[in-house]
Amino acid sequence: MPETRLEIKVFGDPILRKKAKPVKKVTAGDREILSLMAQSMYEGGGIGLAAPQVGISSQLIVADIGQGLYKLVNPVIVKSQGRQAIQEGCLSVPGVCIKVKRAKQVWVEALDENGNPLKLEAKDLLACVLQHEIDHLKGKLIIDYATLMEKLRIKRRLSILKAGNKTCKLKL
Ligand code: ZN
Repeated sequence: MPETRLEIKVFGDPILRKKAKPVKKVTAGDREILSLMAQSMYEGGGIGLAAPQVGISSQLIVADIGQGLYKLVNPVIVKSQGRQAIQEGCLSVPGVCIKVKRAKQVWVEALDENGNPLKLEAKDLLACVLQHEIDHLKGKLIIDYATLMEKLRIKRRLSILKAGNKTCKLKL
């Protein structure tokens, strides 16, 4: 059986900055992508993943904060309230941690993996994860929330990520 693995795209890859396309009709192909995304998320030790992070410009996200797996198509935040600020990391920006101010509670409308409309009310960590993943669909990353001091702190790390392995072929 051929094994398909999705590669996590890292900061510097232009797809992370592109707006993801809405899914017109949820197909078996989309369901396959959502399953593979969930697999990559678990393998990477993440609690959320968006399709652009695996090189696919579609509005698909997965999330699991330990209370069950969510697979959402075309997710939209229709209402939000309250404030929270959590230290966030991102599988696409490894080694970087940013405190991001977000809504404490969100109401999300989406389609499930069978194309049926779905409404979701989330708060605290799950609300944070959903906002983070929906940001990915807009081409937005946690570093966009960094303060000037944080930007200075992570500047070198980002330049290394952006350069990829091109600058250092010899790994010792
Ligand atoms: Zn992320």
